[in-house]
Amino acid sequence: MSCYRGKYADELIANAAYIGTPGKGILAADESTGTIGKRLSSINVENVESNRRALRELLFCTPGALQYLSGVILFEETLYQKTAAGKPFVDVMKEAGVLPGIKVDKGTVELAGTNGETTTQGLDGLAQRCAQYYSAGARFAKWRAVLKIGPNEPSQLAINENANGLARYAIICQENGLVPIVEPEILVDGPHDINKCADVTERVLAACYKALNDHHVLLEGTLLKPNMVTPGSDAKKVAPEVVAEYTVRALQRTMPAAVPAVVFLSGGQSEEEATVNLNAMNQYKGKKPWSLSFSFGRALQQSTLKAWAGKEENVQKAQAAFLARCKANSEATLGKYQGGSGLSEGASESLHVKDYKY
Ligand code: 13P
Repeated sequence: MSCYRGKYADELIANAAYIGTPGKGILAADESTGTIGKRLSSINVENVESNRRALRELLFCTPGALQYLSGVILFEETLYQKTAAGKPFVDVMKEAGVLPGIKVDKGTVELAGTNGETTTQGLDGLAQRCAQYYSAGARFAKWRAVLKIGPNEPSQLAINENANGLARYAIICQENGLVPIVEPEILVDGPHDINKCADVTERVLAACYKALNDHHVLLEGTLLKPNMVTPGSDAKKVAPEVVAEYTVRALQRTMPAAVPAVVFLSGGQSEEEATVNLNAMNQYKGKKPWSLSFSFGRALQQSTLKAWAGKEENVQKAQAAFLARCKANSEATLGKYQGGSGLSEGASESLHVKDYKY
């Protein structure tokens, strides 16, 4: 049988292509209630609904920022929240030409008999949830699968299980009108070199696209959210040009040209590092049949969070920091980021957290 050709096919293709518009990218603001709690506690702000809403309003209502974004990924709570003035966040986005997205996975659980490897939960009832989210205005979704690099990891079991889960999630999303972002994140944790990361990334992506094809997913109506190919967090860093060469090559070898865009996760890189690496990929001369953009969480929010510190009087300063990162990453999607100047506090800080849970 061939791939998905149901009633949403044209819309999925159009929305996926739109999200990949050069010059634009995605803000991942879909931290679960637990994860946002960790962010808020780092600035001594209590994890209550009003503070979570205030942070999201600060981001989404930053004057001028949404022109650099084509999508924002939300956690379920945020999909239904409003600005202080009573305007639904979804409407704020729609008016600015930004598609609302939704995190639909329910986190990871350990795979028995492995060395701490995981699979992602959330397939039960997913079709019904996707239909509800579509009615609420969501047009794309995210599901994060997590793999790790170790002496014997990722195991074939973890690769197969996560590829199959991503493919099931992807086709369920498409049947309900949501563009699936396929996110097989290979954690940066470890002392491995860049060659090891490249090998693992290629194996994982090859398995994911085999599964997506097996499950009849319409590739033109999907996006890929991978890690960049880098050395492990305990190894010496390499130049952005090297990251660019290895990452683009891993994608060339595994990622079908039918997929319109790659939207990288930042995975614990500092804000500046993530932007400079993305810029280098867009400057890299080589075959690139997809657009290369961003879907950053930590690398778009860290300096903003620091500048805000939960205080009303800091909102403008925090919004200036957010605008600067959005603009910088927009330029990086065009290979035009000049780098460095006017960095806000926190922009060069490593955001790596071991075994990060989103
Ligand atoms: P980071 O950019 O912080 O890695 O997060 C992106 C994301 O959405 C992970 O699922």
